[in-house]
Amino acid sequence: MITKRLLPLLLIVALLLVACIPTVTTSTPPIPAGQGTLTVAFLDVGQGDSTLIRSPNGTIMLIDGGRSTALADQVIIPQLKAWGADHVDVLLLTHPDADHITGLVGVLESYPVKLVALTGQVHSTKIYERLLTDVRDKKIEALKVRVGTPIPFDPAVKLEVLNPDDAAVQTEDTNNASIVIKLTYGQISFLLPGDAEMKANQAMLDRGADVHSTVLKLGHHGSRTSTTVDWLKQVSPQIGIISAGADNSYGHPHPEVIAALKQLGIQYIRTDEHGTITITTEGATTHVTNQH
Ligand SMILES: [Zn+2]
Repeated sequence: MITKRLLPLLLIVALLLVACIPTVTTSTPPIPAGQGTLTVAFLDVGQGDSTLIRSPNGTIMLIDGGRSTALADQVIIPQLKAWGADHVDVLLLTHPDADHITGLVGVLESYPVKLVALTGQVHSTKIYERLLTDVRDKKIEALKVRVGTPIPFDPAVKLEVLNPDDAAVQTEDTNNASIVIKLTYGQISFLLPGDAEMKANQAMLDRGADVHSTVLKLGHHGSRTSTTVDWLKQVSPQIGIISAGADNSYGHPHPEVIAALKQLGIQYIRTDEHGTITITTEGATTHVTNQH
């Protein structure tokens, strides 16, 4: 478990910029970036979400972009450049809330994007209108996503869309209409639920979705409305990721959620404490690094 007790250790590891947390039985040296590895970076965007993914064949997916357009130039594009990516293959917005889409607008307006994946939920805010206008003006292909929609990615990685269904998108509840994706590469899987809350979690279980995953990004920034002991037992992650801003006004992550993680012995890492968290896997083990 990564708890306050182990923080000094974590910080030492952070200084080395490489932490190796074996999730299977063997411990191997850190994996160099490049062919054969799936890399998932939970970017430090303050109170919000932004996840950048590079598949083994180099396909780039950006999921959400944090709450300010400046994050594109300050955080997201520098990470893309560090990976040598000159475009984004799939830009996915889980739902139209400002803390997820605003940085995406910055990316759309200054970096090549091939495909935008979104639910198309009705949501009348200026920033969402601007994003939709950008997509239209730049003639970027837009893919309307529902449960089961195939999203073009890397054939070596299984990408499943577990939420939302039509009924969820037709409500005004943006969180529970979040696009939830599960990536599986070999024995390692990532559940990325946007701001899905208990209603969406239950809907996924009712649809018979296999939510069991090695890594869980906790829904809605570690809110008690998304994560309970029962839900954690369903997902049964080895690593929990919390994307939240320091001293945010929502109290994310909520203490009950931290208590649930501790109760089940699930190690967790927070962007507000550890900065950008990057997980690489060759399909059998995970390797975690963090960078402020
Ligand atoms: Zn959010």
